[in-house]
Amino acid sequence: MDRFDLVREAFARKEVTPEVPSCKTSDYFGELVFDRKKMAKYLQPDVLQALLACMEGGKGLDRKTADGVARGMKQWAMEHGVTHVTHWFQPLTEGTAEKHDSLIDYDGKGGVIETFDGSMLAQQEPDASSFPSGGIRATFEARGYTAWDPTSPVFILDDTLCIPTVFIAYTGDALDYKTPLKRSLKAVSDAAVPVCRLFDPKVGKVYAYLGWEQEYFLVDETLYAARTDLMITGRTLFGHNSSKDQQLDDHYFASIPPRVTAYMRELEATAYRLGIPLKTRHNEVAPGQFEMAPIYSETNLANDQNQLIMNLMSRISRKHGFVVLLHEKPFDGVNGSGKHNNWSLGTDTGTMLLAPGRDALGNLQFVTFFVNVLAAVQKHNGLLKASIASATNAYRLGGNEAPPAIVSAFLGDTMTRVLQKLLEVPSDTPIEIAGKKGRKLGLVELPEIFLDNTDRNRTSPFAFIGNRFEFRAVGSSANCAGAMTTLNAAVADQLLLFKADVDRLLAAGKSLNVAVMDVLKPIIRSVLEVVCFDGNGYTDAWKEEAERRGLNVETSVPRMFCEFTKPESVAMFTRTGVYTERELKARNEVKWEIYIKKVQIEARVMERMAINHIVPAALEYKSKLLQETALAKEVYGNTDSCTTELSLLEAISGHVEEVRVRAAALKRACAAADALEGAFERAVAYHDVAESFKALRTPIDRLEELVDNKMWPLPKYRELLFIN
Ligand code: ADP
Ligand code: MG
Repeated sequence: MDRFDLVREAFARKEVTPEVPSCKTSDYFGELVFDRKKMAKYLQPDVLQALLACMEGGKGLDRKTADGVARGMKQWAMEHGVTHVTHWFQPLTEGTAEKHDSLIDYDGKGGVIETFDGSMLAQQEPDASSFPSGGIRATFEARGYTAWDPTSPVFILDDTLCIPTVFIAYTGDALDYKTPLKRSLKAVSDAAVPVCRLFDPKVGKVYAYLGWEQEYFLVDETLYAARTDLMITGRTLFGHNSSKDQQLDDHYFASIPPRVTAYMRELEATAYRLGIPLKTRHNEVAPGQFEMAPIYSETNLANDQNQLIMNLMSRISRKHGFVVLLHEKPFDGVNGSGKHNNWSLGTDTGTMLLAPGRDALGNLQFVTFFVNVLAAVQKHNGLLKASIASATNAYRLGGNEAPPAIVSAFLGDTMTRVLQKLLEVPSDTPIEIAGKKGRKLGLVELPEIFLDNTDRNRTSPFAFIGNRFEFRAVGSSANCAGAMTTLNAAVADQLLLFKADVDRLLAAGKSLNVAVMDVLKPIIRSVLEVVCFDGNGYTDAWKEEAERRGLNVETSVPRMFCEFTKPESVAMFTRTGVYTERELKARNEVKWEIYIKKVQIEARVMERMAINHIVPAALEYKSKLLQETALAKEVYGNTDSCTTELSLLEAISGHVEEVRVRAAALKRACAAADALEGAFERAVAYHDVAESFKALRTPIDRLEELVDNKMWPLPKYRELLFIN
């Protein structure tokens, strides 16, 4: 099959009828999740009570409760045809990990029976020597264990009961994403509750909420299979742009192609069965790019669901003849994909802490949290950038379609004005809801709700959206936990400092309003000057300005990771109990190793494809042109009629030579990087390798323009990007 056959096959493909239940969504939503309803049905009352206490109090399960829970779970699972069980965890590699065990055991009478007890539920010891640990767990004692996180509901995938677990070394060090995320959720609650109690003594717990928006590309699987680079690295390493891609903005929010709708419907139905409340779906900016988002929920659960949905997307897309691309930058020259993390805080009494309150006291509470979040983002802007940095996201950040590689915050006009006003008025001025008491001079007023008067600034990595902040710099393939853990920890730490300062002023006899505002005012002044930026984040002027303001402008991903082990970051993470210094150091080792390997793999694929896909195609065309020229000489005795051939020959020869030279240089650069000692040094060298990809890509993309279309071996952007 040549390239044209593949394109014809992709074009001829019709939508596949999606497998969706015929009843309404609410009838089957969550049917494959062991949620509270199932707990009530399948667990003995005393077991149920003990389990709920564990879930709410964040305590571990005792053996008796675990056995009781396992008994009920087994009954439920077997009613759904389950034959296997697995602990489902989130190691520091991409995606999730699982090791399935059959439920069978010998029954002592020559046969087998299904067993599942509390020990299988509570703890497993996967031979985890191949997971990255950054040196925490030497391979000769590959001891790590997984333990059920009862705050994440158990679910069924195919024939397997999946138990969401944390993954920890025997030393207690976290080896996964979930453990630090859970610690950060506790930290932010522990720090926020005393602050809330200044305003409302009934608050007992604070939740961090997450609503992720997942962007992704779909490509037809036959075309995908012909692109070695996509298959191995998740992105195209070459490819001339298509004459038409996103310049007309005709894909964004346009009607969704039927093949894609069929895929989305099946994905949604599967997600609903697993209790994932998908809410929105639409075409994104680039051709072939789409987005979906669920209704937000508590962060740990929301993140598990995002991990699960990425897995479901990959499987279900194949049934519909697609491959889903979660890479942040699969195609050069069109938008990349992110995973906006909408984040907010709310109390167990039902107050959203990043939305205006019902009265002046509620508004003061809102302003308190709002400003402290900004202070945390300012203080740890470099760290927050490091929390979203990866080899793959690096290709997206700083491009003119994604948040720039500088973390600033966007407030919108209304909140900027409110903060400015607060600096002008005395500290005991109440913050009123606009319009409620008529306009009075000198008052600080908030809109009752922001609705759409928080303007949209697509260039900002951290934007206020009326009742939440949207952290937009997170990569589409990332585990949200990396970013959310850092944000929660930074906010928790800031709230602790704030509370201590307020307490000091209260003890000195100041009123609550005055104490709070006296502490907030210098912070407001500072954030307005430093971290808040409402302009265009893509300009060079902003880069210079940001540097003047003292914001982190580092663009090398390996160097960004150093933010994690800076003294102030270590102090913040240890004070909040989110990471130990040892964990931070180990994780950086893992991050550098992953970075090195990703770039190394890309370099290898690029060099090999250049030499054995691209150069042969160019030489074949060259040979054809030479034959034409030789023939002309034979017939006419000269090459006067061959000006086109000769000029093409010259251009092609030049580019082919450039490809050969640059491919060799790339190989040498990798070898030189490999020879370096430490992971950091190698990662820094590989950053330069990644920067040099463009030099090899440029002559290849030129060749794509010149070489006979029939001879070009790889599906082109114009073929890959459009779904019929
Ligand atoms: P947009 O594209 O306009 O940003 P979407 O509807 O695509 O909006 O996604 C917004 C996401 O933000 C959804 O997941 C939504 O549930 C979530 N969200 C809304 N309110 C909050 C909140 N208070 N806290 C966290 N997430 C929220
Ligand atoms: Mg959004």
